[in-house]
Amino acid sequence: MTANLTPASTPGAAPKKRRIFVTTALPYANGKFHLGHMMEYIQADIWVRFQRMQGHKVHWMCADDTHGAPIMIAAEKAGKTPQEFVAEIAATRKEYLDGFHLSIDNWYSTDSPENVELAQDIYRQLKASGFIASKTIEQFFDPVKSMFLPDRYIKGECPKCGTKDQYGDSCENCGAVYAPTDLKNPYSTLSGATPEMRSSEHFFFKLSDPQCVDFLRNWTEGLDRHDKKRLQSEIIAKTKEWLGEDGKLGDWDVSRDAPYFGIPIPDAPGKYFYVWLDAPVGYLASLKNYFDSGKAKFNGESRTFAEFLADPDTEQIHFIGKDIVYFHVLFWPAMLKFAGYKVPDSVNVHGFITVGGEKMSKSRGTGIDPLKYLKIGMNPEWLRYYIAAKLNANVEDVDFTAEDFMARVNSDLIGKFVNIASRTAGFLHKHFDGKLLERQSGVKVGAGEDVAAMSGEIAALYDGREFGKVVRRVMEAADFVNGYYDTSKPWELAKRAATDKDAREQLHVVCTSVLETFRVLAIYLAPIMPRLAGDAFAFLNISRQQWHDLHHPMAPGHAINGYKHLMSRVEEKQLDELFGLLPDPAAPAKAEKPAKALASAKGAASGNAAAKPAALGVQADGFIGIDDFAKVDLRIAKIVNAEQVEGSDKLLRLTLDVGETDGSGQPTTRNVFSGIKSAYAPETLIGQHTVLVANLAPRKMKFGISEGMVLAASAKDEQNEPGLYLLNPHTGAKPGMKVS
Ligand SMILES: [Zn+2]
Repeated sequence: MTANLTPASTPGAAPKKRRIFVTTALPYANGKFHLGHMMEYIQADIWVRFQRMQGHKVHWMCADDTHGAPIMIAAEKAGKTPQEFVAEIAATRKEYLDGFHLSIDNWYSTDSPENVELAQDIYRQLKASGFIASKTIEQFFDPVKSMFLPDRYIKGECPKCGTKDQYGDSCENCGAVYAPTDLKNPYSTLSGATPEMRSSEHFFFKLSDPQCVDFLRNWTEGLDRHDKKRLQSEIIAKTKEWLGEDGKLGDWDVSRDAPYFGIPIPDAPGKYFYVWLDAPVGYLASLKNYFDSGKAKFNGESRTFAEFLADPDTEQIHFIGKDIVYFHVLFWPAMLKFAGYKVPDSVNVHGFITVGGEKMSKSRGTGIDPLKYLKIGMNPEWLRYYIAAKLNANVEDVDFTAEDFMARVNSDLIGKFVNIASRTAGFLHKHFDGKLLERQSGVKVGAGEDVAAMSGEIAALYDGREFGKVVRRVMEAADFVNGYYDTSKPWELAKRAATDKDAREQLHVVCTSVLETFRVLAIYLAPIMPRLAGDAFAFLNISRQQWHDLHHPMAPGHAINGYKHLMSRVEEKQLDELFGLLPDPAAPAKAEKPAKALASAKGAASGNAAAKPAALGVQADGFIGIDDFAKVDLRIAKIVNAEQVEGSDKLLRLTLDVGETDGSGQPTTRNVFSGIKSAYAPETLIGQHTVLVANLAPRKMKFGISEGMVLAASAKDEQNEPGLYLLNPHTGAKPGMKVS
């Protein structure tokens, strides 16, 4: 059951470097980001970072989607021009993008000269190839506001499923897409008036053209250049439904009448492109701006926008949510195809994120505020890790719950991964000046598999967006390493190291193997948690690692840096604050929390070592008398056993020898629960001495009776991470000695 950590094999011929143009959906510039945006960007960022670690060149574009009636109307309400309105929203973006470590290469706007140029060019090309038709249509007109009503400002009952209060273009309940005139009992949401029918000339993209239907059938069911389906099976099933046997796709109305905030249609005064025509063109506008402004050069791209796009080796990959599939797998590829532009390689669709099972809604503004998350000091990489752990390649919704979030971060990420470094570094520094074993061949992790040999499997999972499986496999490997550590008992080897050469050697082997495996796991996790991985590499005193570094272990005798706290644990109160559940300090009793809160962690909180001792007779000058101090019976205690407490995030169960005996003279021990789990792996405490408050009244806790309290220092360090330090007497102190 042992395996070699040294590189078994280096991959053969280097695979061809990919050149990828990636986009994420353009957020509509009428509101701030919500958790759903962050999920999409985190998903794309993990994928992009993984590709970059492979040595592939990725250019990730995004932009604000600025046009359309909703922004025009919202700006008017706010007393601003639409341009001012969207500029204010755009100014809020950076804080989120930087805050969650999103490596977008260019953030731009659809209200830009590049987008005007590209959208008009695409339209002209489509018109020249006969794909634009003009028709006079009857359309809803608001007689009170004196304007044609945009789809979104007409509501009524869904013609398909009958759900009330649905918008004029699609149904939130059944996903049907229809014309506003199909709605039953329509009304204007601007004035409440019943809309009137008026006629106006509109321009249509001829999706019903047989060439278009043929193209879309082939494209949607086709394979990409890597022989993978370009669309997920669920999406292919949807497109089959939409395209139908008889090609029932309708022509698409791409024009709107003034007043409209958008791009003018060439040679058609008073007509503008419907926002959904120019929005995806914004991907290309952002890319063009990125090239024209010289930013692409900094990313190693010396060609022009046109050359880059014309190169058949350039891959074009979109990440979107399931609510905008129709636009991205039908309209968009068809527009590009018949305008003579590059057609997307694939469209990756994700589900929604729900919070505690509740769907978030842009219009209702529910859910978690990502900026609040950052402002209360929650680590952005906790969220990245959590979202990664929940994501797969299917179009499934992801649910965020506080309990699950806390367990994933604290038990898995901190307890399994970060723990590996924290529990090993001390031994290496104390016994070997922080240097790895000189002789490295034959170093075993005692593992059933070579952790570095999982690289192909992990890479395939990343490339296929199976991030949940990546996390699962990496945590299994972390379990394995921790198991190896536990069975190797380095704390026992360390005790014998001074006199026993073999024990010392074995200790060195254990530390070296464990830290080398930690390096490999940090590389595996780097696309998900770039900062944590960076800190791990800094701790190991090595440069930022790329994927190929998996097969290059740290050099024999390499000196690591001192261990610095890599990541703190999620605290219950942070989640309470995030969910707005903090009790009012003025309220006499603690407010009852909704079920969403962390009921399971309540018991654990009461065992904190920092709990205040019983009140003493404090004098007016703030001093206590010696008699008061003498009431506290402090004793030296030897930790004879320490273990995890099942079901508690904070506590360790300590078995203490305080020099006591029972009635028949047999030695007895005390059971003490201590809230130090975040700072110590239990194995590292066994055999240590500390100080016990021996006459603290026994306390009944959820997990048993605690017979006293051990003393620990605690404070936040310079990075504002909580630190906990158990008191440790000088050598020679014996169990039961009084401390005074
Ligand atoms: Zn419906």
